[in-house]
Amino acid sequence: MSRDQYTLTDPTALYADIDTEAQSQPGAGLDANMRDQPDLGADTYRGTGRLEGRKALITGGDSGIGGATAIAFAREGADVALSYLPEEQEDADRIVALIEEAGRKAVALPGDLKDRQYCTDLVARAVEQLGGLDILVNNGGKQQTVESLEDVTDEQFDETFKTNVYAMFWITKAALPHLQPGSTIINTSSVQAYQPSPTLVDYASTKAAINTFSKALAQQLAPKGIRVNVVAPGPVWTPLQTAGGQPPEDLPEFGQQTPLGRPGQPAELAPAFVFLASPESSYVSGATVHVNGGMPIL
Ligand code: NAD
Ligand code: MG
Repeated sequence: MSRDQYTLTDPTALYADIDTEAQSQPGAGLDANMRDQPDLGADTYRGTGRLEGRKALITGGDSGIGGATAIAFAREGADVALSYLPEEQEDADRIVALIEEAGRKAVALPGDLKDRQYCTDLVARAVEQLGGLDILVNNGGKQQTVESLEDVTDEQFDETFKTNVYAMFWITKAALPHLQPGSTIINTSSVQAYQPSPTLVDYASTKAAINTFSKALAQQLAPKGIRVNVVAPGPVWTPLQTAGGQPPEDLPEFGQQTPLGRPGQPAELAPAFVFLASPESSYVSGATVHVNGGMPIL
């Protein structure tokens, strides 16, 4: 079945061949280690010049939703800097190669988002090596499922907030002096901000914070001609979900609760980021685009 952005297809029937069988990975996990590979759009995404000459920084750009977005941005004409953990080099190498195949510049900047110094250096290095910055995607994230709040360690709570919320604050703050009018910031929230799972109390709270941070900042930056928007994914087949994001035994049913009856693939998220990054969305700011398999958000 055709999976490109332009062919009429039944959305319930897509990706029936991708089996989200029970599996688990240590650390942040790798796309390379997933049994059935997520679709990042590498074989299908067709650009139409919507981001020609743009300069983008994407955190968590090595895999999953950020990886798919990096591929799409490059095929739309953008040069792309990627942030990811050093242990994800194998995944990052693949995305770098795909960006370069698209004829664009790729800048690989590994490090730990929990480290304030890395976050500020990341922006400085991206600006220096790209020759500026006009798209910022805060997408790196940590999600660990824990049954009982009593078992959420202070360390996990701190790491989840550092990775998901503080890094966004540090990176955005460092990026602002470089962003000219027309620049765009896109933050990755989640359906968890709206319909939190009982076992993701800390993570869901960070995703609500990301959403609200973005809506406040969008108003502050609108007079400067900088737009801030949010993508709120539903269940998407990525390493994060196989690296503690879900209990492994729940993965076979992953995404089946959505009206479309299946998990999303990273390739299905990337077009939302392209839309919000490009001047196509020139009158859209402070918005959240829900890409969640049809779960109603009121
Ligand atoms: P992913 O594992 O492919 O991406 C997450 C990335 O975060 C990793 O690749 C890693 O590079 C980065 N990261 C995590 N901790 C880091 C750290 N300390 N330092 C540097 N980088 C770090 O998974 P994904 O699902 O594509 O996640 C991307 C975003 O989408 C996350 O913000 C996640 O919360 C959000 N999201 C995912 C889903 C889903 O179902 N997969 C649903 C809603 C929201
Ligand atoms: Mg990764």
